[in-house]
Amino acid sequence: MRTRFIVGNWKMHKTASEAKVFIGQLAQAIPPLGNLQIGLAPPFTALQAVREALGSSPQFLLGAQNLHWEDKGAFTGEVSGAMLADLDCRFVLIGHSERRQYFGESDGWINKKVLAALRHGIMPILCVGETLQERDSGQTDAIIQRQLRAALNGVEDSAVASLTIAYEPVWAIGTGHAASPDQAAPVHRLIRRTLNDLSRSNAGERVRVLYGGSVTSDNIAEFLASEEIDGGLVGGACLDPVRFATLLTVALGYKPTAN
Ligand code: PEP
Repeated sequence: MRTRFIVGNWKMHKTASEAKVFIGQLAQAIPPLGNLQIGLAPPFTALQAVREALGSSPQFLLGAQNLHWEDKGAFTGEVSGAMLADLDCRFVLIGHSERRQYFGESDGWINKKVLAALRHGIMPILCVGETLQERDSGQTDAIIQRQLRAALNGVEDSAVASLTIAYEPVWAIGTGHAASPDQAAPVHRLIRRTLNDLSRSNAGERVRVLYGGSVTSDNIAEFLASEEIDGGLVGGACLDPVRFATLLTVALGYKPTAN
């Protein structure tokens, strides 16, 4: 049984002080979380503030949005897995399309980052997804398989099941045009099949595969109704505590109260 997982990616939003206020407001607005896991990925500068504000709550996981593959060295502006582990980061986003697009992250770099995260006991949330042009030209499956195979090169069979994969069609991120569950589910299935092949085990059935791309409280229930979809990676809709709490409320199957 895979535990459902909703992850908020704050991107480059919120100072450390704003983060503290956010966590206080979120805690007031969310219902009991059942066995839903929530991940929060603030900017590096707010990790410590979020860590302190969350305290020891077992259902909230703290995570980062990126890491460098080396543990230390002359890499100005970078942050290593060792540094994140020291702050109790439990997961790290790797291969987000914004990193691929704006920061030139290659499949090779992403592979090194996955290996570095695993070395430090931090769960990679590996983001994969096709552009609109790739989808329209029938390349979705090939792109997803290429991204997975490259990112997992050299990852031990036994470690593959510890990953989380986020399927994030690039055309759905921040656009307000989410994929439909019928578009996402076959890609999630392909991801599981590819992981089964790569790990020569049934890792694909154990890995959590999240959907990301314009997820809101209006569509999260439809995604979670698909047995292929284990949760969501949420950008825009996680930034306001009340909006995010409403999304979590719906994900838990409660009726949201009108705001
Ligand atoms: C994301 O940043 O991973 C994302 C899915 O953003 P949004 O929810 O805003 O589309």
